Amino acid sequence: MNQEDLFKKLIAHSKEYGFIFPSSEIYDGLGAVYDYGQNGVELKNNIKKYWWESMVLLNENVVGIDSAIFMHPTIWKASGHVDAFNDPLIDNKDSKKRYRADALIEEELAKIEGKIEKEVEKARGRFGASFDEKIFRETNPRVLENQQKWDALHNRFAAALNNSDLGELKQIIEDNEIVCPISGTRNWTEVRQFNLMFSTEMGSTADSSLKIYLRPETAQGIFVNYLNVQKSGRMKIPFGIAQIGKAFRNEIVARQFIFRMREFEQMEMQFFVRPGTELDWFEKWKETRIKWHKALGFGDSNYRFHVHEKLAHYANAAVDIEFKFPFGFKEVEGIHSRTDFDLSQHQKYSGKKIQYFDPELNESYVPYVVETSIGVDRMFLQVLSASYCEEEIDGGDGGKDTRVVLRLPAPLAPVKLAVMPLIKKDGLPEKARGIIDELKFEFNCQYDEKDSIGKRYRRQDAIGTPFCVTVDHQTMEDDTVTIRYRDTMDQERVAIDQVKSIIAGQVNLKRLFEKLM
Ligand code: ATP
Repeated sequence: MNQEDLFKKLIAHSKEYGFIFPSSEIYDGLGAVYDYGQNGVELKNNIKKYWWESMVLLNENVVGIDSAIFMHPTIWKASGHVDAFNDPLIDNKDSKKRYRADALIEEELAKIEGKIEKEVEKARGRFGASFDEKIFRETNPRVLENQQKWDALHNRFAAALNNSDLGELKQIIEDNEIVCPISGTRNWTEVRQFNLMFSTEMGSTADSSLKIYLRPETAQGIFVNYLNVQKSGRMKIPFGIAQIGKAFRNEIVARQFIFRMREFEQMEMQFFVRPGTELDWFEKWKETRIKWHKALGFGDSNYRFHVHEKLAHYANAAVDIEFKFPFGFKEVEGIHSRTDFDLSQHQKYSGKKIQYFDPELNESYVPYVVETSIGVDRMFLQVLSASYCEEEIDGGDGGKDTRVVLRLPAPLAPVKLAVMPLIKKDGLPEKARGIIDELKFEFNCQYDEKDSIGKRYRRQDAIGTPFCVTVDHQTMEDDTVTIRYRDTMDQERVAIDQVKSIIAGQVNLKRLFEKLM
């Protein structure tokens, strides 16, 4: 299946099985805003739990907070967001479509990269086992030519971003003959800056109302609570503060489903360290975070680090963790060394001293910060796209059938166990409900008695339920059931009182945490 088809199928599947719905759908939707359905919310909560516990349970020096979305407007002045939280915007005059100028150039870079990868894959097929990828990349003329093109474009792009040179961004688009994907023309406007923050007003009268912003990141809520947490928790540096919460950005181009939304959720952790040690901690968190992703078992080669072309105004090192989505490698998480920028700015704008007395050094300083910042929704999309599978299986009547299965890691699955009476009589439904009553305190169980057993299995496969238990007439005689495993479709007969331990071992987050230690 090609990747574009896969992505379309994922979107349709998400809706059909209650994972994600377009927001306000009966009113034709609202751009880049989505709602999570009955299965989506469970999966999302499990992702958040995996992140939260890996931060605050596994690290004794990381604690959590939950700060308000509304904050004092001066915070956004101090953080630089009022003046600098901009994206470069460009319009095509023919299609009237709006784009991010940087995104158009990044797509051009990805195209060149795609050409190189195609050459490499072709050669791999030709040479077989004797293929030496490194030598091929260093010597093949077509690869070298494209690599030079990529380097030149990349260097020019990075310089333009770093100098905030909007004219040069336009020139790059023109020189590379980048066309609008809709109109196919090069009839572009100038590039201009666009601030991504949403604003609203707080207060009841026009005179007293205050212009406030919907937070574009959760991080500032952590910075302005640094002193509160450090003092009330008697925290010693190094320590971290974690938070999960909504963030809002008026994205110029909102495409790719839940990859880029205008209302989304972030999981951020700010780690406060002694000045001068920040780059060591940056490396440490980089390793910790990539391990967290890889522990899910989606394939190590589907991840890569991407070093930023342009460092944000607050950072002295920054890297993204990228995942291979159906539309290519894209950022899911950023790890940034934010220096003492934010705390110093809040110290300056609030007039309050924000410092740490380090008893070992016997001196006070503004701590440095290393941040890990991941979008819940992008993580959700990662999990969904890595888990979606279409498989050809025996149709039972000698023919072939297709099953759609979400191979979700069991600890993340929305429903852990489906219990099904083979038929709707002879006491089987009551027996099945009895099993659920026993197990519902342990994990999310679902009762299903409608349609044939085969159809019921398919429905559970489609939402990623790792275990199905079937109650039949034999169950009434000897208290055994059939347990069916989602991935292998194997079935075995087990005693009812074994079911809990079979499942518990697989669905516990501890299984993932063990891989992080
Ligand atoms: P991008 O370059 O894709 O716009 P960013 O570099 O601006 O992202 P950060 O400010 O570093 O993103 O935000 C941290 C994380 O928050 C991102 O890695 C991403 O997972 C998530 N995120 C940011 N913007 C969005 C959005 N519009 N929709 C969904 N998730 C987002």
